[in-house]
Amino acid sequence: MQKVSGEHVVYAFSPDMTPVLEVESGEIVHFESNDCFYQQVQLESHVLDGIDHDRLNPATGPVYVRSAEPGDLLRVDILAIDVQAQGVAAVVPGEGILSEEAKEAIVRVIPVENGEAVFKGIRLPLRPMIGVIGVAPGDEDGPCPTDTPFRHGGNMDTNEIVKGHTVYFPVRQPGALFALGDCHGLMGDGEICFTGLEIPADVFVRLTVVKNKRAVWPILQTADATQIIASGPTLEAALKDAMKVAVDLLAASFSLMWEDAYLLASLTVDAKISQVVDPLVTVRASIPQWLVSTEALLKELT
Ligand code: CA
Ligand code: CA
Repeated sequence: MQKVSGEHVVYAFSPDMTPVLEVESGEIVHFESNDCFYQQVQLESHVLDGIDHDRLNPATGPVYVRSAEPGDLLRVDILAIDVQAQGVAAVVPGEGILSEEAKEAIVRVIPVENGEAVFKGIRLPLRPMIGVIGVAPGDEDGPCPTDTPFRHGGNMDTNEIVKGHTVYFPVRQPGALFALGDCHGLMGDGEICFTGLEIPADVFVRLTVVKNKRAVWPILQTADATQIIASGPTLEAALKDAMKVAVDLLAASFSLMWEDAYLLASLTVDAKISQVVDPLVTVRASIPQWLVSTEALLKELT
């Protein structure tokens, strides 16, 4: 198995990133994932305005996947997210959904014991997730800083991007140029205070090219749903983009007129919030597997 060291990072998903590793389609790759502060915060006295802000949100990679071409999908199976023994979370006045109410900057160093984070004596079961994950964007989207999610993926901060689930990314550049970082030990929907449990991790993924399938936004396959992940300036804008894709897929999959598919989506598709604190916010349109399988939906992408 090939490994990408945590020293090889990018701070933007750029159309012309230089790969640090080349693999065949179907290979498993081990990524050393740094935390979003590049491990600069180790003590509660390490105030966030004292750290090097040029080193925030590093993404490990990128990896060139042979045979991936624009117009394909990159299938990323998440095989393991092994987090380290300590994470960090912080409140920064001016950030988060309650930005005006937060008066004091705090940093909390939170140990992990037996699969649980221990915060102020409260034991929190871990659910490790990947915050930043994506591929090189199209030329028209230009470089996307790693703090910003968009059509290439990036800082989607989606708490269902976990072990056992699969993410499909639209390939926009030869080799796809895949990178990841910013794991969280756990995080609620929304990431409301601006951080999750920020934590370094060893991440193992299988990277597989799916030929000739075009998508606009990343697609997440969970045990019980297919989720279109879209990001935009507002929740409403992002949700429109996600739901448009979901309704079009249902129309194609069930051979329905668009309005019937719209109605069917209203009865069955969940709107979910990923995060509301990054430069663009992220939502998902979640189509249940009991209605239609991910495989059947992917057939409609041409
Ligand atoms: Ca993040
Ligand atoms: Ca984070």
